[in-house]
Amino acid sequence: MKASRLICLLLAVPILLQTSTGWGVAKETAFQVKETAHFQIEHQDENMAGRLARVAEDVFPRILRDLDAPSPLDLPIWKGRKIRVTLYNTRAEYTHLATHPPWSDGHADSFKLVITMHREQSSGAMGRLFTHELTHLIFDNYLGFSHTSVNWISEGLAELEEARFARQAEQTALYIEQIRKGTYIPLEQLVYMDVHWERDSDKVRLWYAEALALSLVTYLIKGHGERTFQNFLSVLRKKSVDQSLEAVYGPQIKNVKDLQESWLQYMKTHEQRW
Ligand SMILES: [Zn+2]
Repeated sequence: MKASRLICLLLAVPILLQTSTGWGVAKETAFQVKETAHFQIEHQDENMAGRLARVAEDVFPRILRDLDAPSPLDLPIWKGRKIRVTLYNTRAEYTHLATHPPWSDGHADSFKLVITMHREQSSGAMGRLFTHELTHLIFDNYLGFSHTSVNWISEGLAELEEARFARQAEQTALYIEQIRKGTYIPLEQLVYMDVHWERDSDKVRLWYAEALALSLVTYLIKGHGERTFQNFLSVLRKKSVDQSLEAVYGPQIKNVKDLQESWLQYMKTHEQRW
């Protein structure tokens, strides 16, 4: 989700949606399905689904390329399956029926290859959000669900891909401010944080800003090279975060503590303007 990757269990009936209209009264809303090469989009708005389909097939190969991930057909759980995208009509339906927190607008279930979102937002925002969720889904499957401590990398990459749709000026300003004030979340905490359960919205915003592409993940890519980062992801499929950092970025960076030091140093010399 635009925040975390909880498992969504309430989508057992993909094509027919139960919409509650009062006490015990429910009406079934039929979804149409738009098929593309890699996606199955359930929707009630042909126009919107068409736009989403174009974004989907456009960003799909790009994300694979950026991660240097193999074709999804080669990933274990993916064989022969399309990603199902459910586009709810309203935010209320999305929040209520898929039980997502009120600050969420989209969600990826990487195990089931399902993305849920709603269309009560601009098509630009939907494109960014979709890109974000798809990055999580591809990353999780590429990494093979072996770690719980890679959420921050997943989030950074998702924000990086999303940022290609829109500049993240507000986010950038936020984390620069946090670094300046010294109130950023220590990386050793950030690595194990699951913001889905966090109710403090300031903390959630900060977590995003810190995990934002332009900070940690971008630092790894810009500071050490894209190829090296892809190599890091590849090692991460088999080893812990610390082991992978040491194997690829050592001896300078041997663990998340070193990463924090070197990231801060980089931010202070390259990004900060104070
Ligand atoms: Zn996310």
